[in-house]
Amino acid sequence: MDLQERIQHIESRIQAACNRSNRNRKDVEIIAVTKYVSLKTAEKAVEFGCKHIGENRWPDAEEKVSVLATKSTMHFIGHLQSKKVKHIIGKFPYIHSIDRISLAKEIEKQALIQDVNVNCFIQVNVSGEESKYGVSPDELYSLAESLTPYKHLNVVGLMTMAPFEEDKEKTRPIFRELKRLKDRLNEKQIFNYNISHLSMGMSNDFEIAIEEGATFIRLGSQLVGKE
Ligand SMILES: *Cc1c(COP(=O)(O)O)cnc(C)c1O
Repeated sequence: MDLQERIQHIESRIQAACNRSNRNRKDVEIIAVTKYVSLKTAEKAVEFGCKHIGENRWPDAEEKVSVLATKSTMHFIGHLQSKKVKHIIGKFPYIHSIDRISLAKEIEKQALIQDVNVNCFIQVNVSGEESKYGVSPDELYSLAESLTPYKHLNVVGLMTMAPFEEDKEKTRPIFRELKRLKDRLNEKQIFNYNISHLSMGMSNDFEIAIEEGATFIRLGSQLVGKE
């Protein structure tokens, strides 16, 4: 399949997952993760209708950002070192990997300097795998509370990565738990608004994530491919 066919194929699978779970297709956004492909392929993805582009490393993403940021919305989805923050603020309107206060503090500082607001997801390590970043579900509430004074950092939702499972059905409890954690944050009124987004689901498990409420799915290998 070429890129356009892959995009169409994924689109029909997304639509089917929405139908199975009674969800509206327009409530699920695709982030095309272009970390495995060239700038040229990433540009094609945007031409073919991908509105959101995800990258996970700086400075690897620099060239793509300089070309694509005017035509698409950039999402920083990877682990973020505080010293890199100054480079990415102003270029990525979304950061999916808030996992500690020191990082949030640096984002607030740089966003203030540049006078921009940054949409952020708190990354939660729901599965508890040691290799994964993110706060534990137990630490989530205190991290969330500590973010409320940061006026340039809008918490828009929660993000997680499920372990890779041959049997995709095994990822379902992870996604279901992230949704429950989001609902709890809203019940506890940690923020003075409701958070609505769930960034979850990758190439292997996006259909399950959609069925469990994902609003942003992050697709690399199955969508734009690997080069
Ligand atoms: C690479 C990456 C993805 C996309 O992975 P695929 O399995 O290729 O779809 C999604 N989210 C994060 C955080 C990533 O680093």
